Amino acid sequence: MKLIFATNNQHKVDEINNVLDKTFQIVSLKEAGIDIDIAEPFDTLEENASIKAKTIYEMTNTDCFSEDTGLEVNALNGEPGVKSARYAGNNRLFDANIDKLLINLAEKQDRTAQFRTIISLIIKGEETKFEGICKGKILEERKGSHGFGYDPVFIPDGSDKTFAEMNISEKSIFSHRRKATDKLVAFLNKL
Ligand code: IMP
Repeated sequence: MKLIFATNNQHKVDEINNVLDKTFQIVSLKEAGIDIDIAEPFDTLEENASIKAKTIYEMTNTDCFSEDTGLEVNALNGEPGVKSARYAGNNRLFDANIDKLLINLAEKQDRTAQFRTIISLIIKGEETKFEGICKGKILEERKGSHGFGYDPVFIPDGSDKTFAEMNISEKSIFSHRRKATDKLVAFLNKL
């Protein structure tokens, strides 16, 4: 089965390919020859995931999916959440986002947080959504060099390593994205 994955983030493509079996062929926007940066104008992950998948379905008339992920920090009332990519500004710099997060958490005792992923799948024009959550905590300083985004400061519950200290397969044991992808696969296998 061939599906376009509506993302320009190669880390996300690699992580999802790592957990999919070979019956599914994932084609990234780049591989599909589509050069587009789809706006994420809404206040929820659900709506932003939808707009990305619907935009690509309308352009290509091909079954596709997208995902939107946010880091929800309890002591910051769920922020950065849907604003995770642009937390420190529109240039979407991972390092600046982490710096801002660590400053905003400096005085807080509660460092618990969760990553939440919403996948929006469109098959023959019909949308289905899947959620994956990974709970954990935010460190006071960066550790590790793998991964992307907030990975260097996030330790998932059940581990003593940050996501950035793990390879893709280790991250997949805990990851929000893998949990949402598992639900996607279960759904596709029933079609
Ligand atoms: P989006 O889903 O591309 O809008 O991602 C929002 C932002 O959340 C990204 O720019 C990253 O900073 C962060 N993010 C999303 N997924 C992950 C992850 O698995 N690890 C660390 N940061 C992530």
